[in-house]
Amino acid sequence: MMRRVLSVVGGICILTACATVETRLPVPSTSQLDIEAKNQETEAFARYLKMRKRLDNVSAPILAANAELCAKTRADFGIITHTKKTYPKHLRDAAARRLAAGDTHTVLFVRGGSAADTVGIKRGDVLIGDKDKPISATDKSFKNTDSLHIRRGGQDMHMSVKADQICDYAVVLKMSGAVNAYANGRAVIVTTAMMDFAVSDDELALIIGHELAHNTMRHVPKAVWNTVISGLATRTTRPFESEADYVGLYYMARAGYNLDGVEDFWRRLGVQYPKSIVREKTHPVTPQRLLAIRMTVAEVEAKRAADAELVPNYLPGKTPHYAK
Ligand SMILES: [Zn+2]
Repeated sequence: MMRRVLSVVGGICILTACATVETRLPVPSTSQLDIEAKNQETEAFARYLKMRKRLDNVSAPILAANAELCAKTRADFGIITHTKKTYPKHLRDAAARRLAAGDTHTVLFVRGGSAADTVGIKRGDVLIGDKDKPISATDKSFKNTDSLHIRRGGQDMHMSVKADQICDYAVVLKMSGAVNAYANGRAVIVTTAMMDFAVSDDELALIIGHELAHNTMRHVPKAVWNTVISGLATRTTRPFESEADYVGLYYMARAGYNLDGVEDFWRRLGVQYPKSIVREKTHPVTPQRLLAIRMTVAEVEAKRAADAELVPNYLPGKTPHYAK
């Protein structure tokens, strides 16, 4: 048995002579292998880039439309910057080859219609910070909100343009075959497999809204605190999941996304991947949950029809965290 495992894994043969194949197998040349490896890498890189762009395009309106409901906001010009290290290790060579990604942050995407787009910022431009040094678009030392300083072809340019204020949470793409999304208090993380599962942008917006709500409602520290107190996390995270459903639907609606497919999405996810969405095991997609979601959609639509402000209802005596 041991011999068989070893030979399967690495062709290592011990005790007996090596077992070998009996047919004449095709043997590609080294250069053919190199070309094929590069092609696969390029294709994987293009797929990754497309997903990042989609994630940014879908999350940007959510982060912007809910700025006044977020306790923390930051300036956003509509730019994503990158370096070689921005990418998962196996895509770094392709990033360098295809987009000249190096050690200095340069502009990767300019969102259509954003502040940066209106003044003609382009891929490859270098964003210059307050200390005359290249920076990333989300650099915390970047205080300027009414102009952009860039370097293009060795020439410095100053553009007068006002940044938007958006919720200060990153939305991150994670390479993973697990259909999953989660919040860690600072960022929303969506896996590549979840990006594939969320076929429409409305579905992706639903996921982002739900996870953003976990962050804004401070569920991560609260869940830790509850664990400390009760010693049993599963008992206390369930209401947080319901709250992320409730508040997340408002976030999504405020950004103009369509709520029609919300119930179907959760049901499909629950049926196919009962353990997706971290902490979801504490609450499968139960009838109770689906009905609560249906009631929330009705609540939001009624407010929309009445031209009322689209903000979650708070319990009597509770001040919204963003108003404190
Ligand atoms: Zn959740």
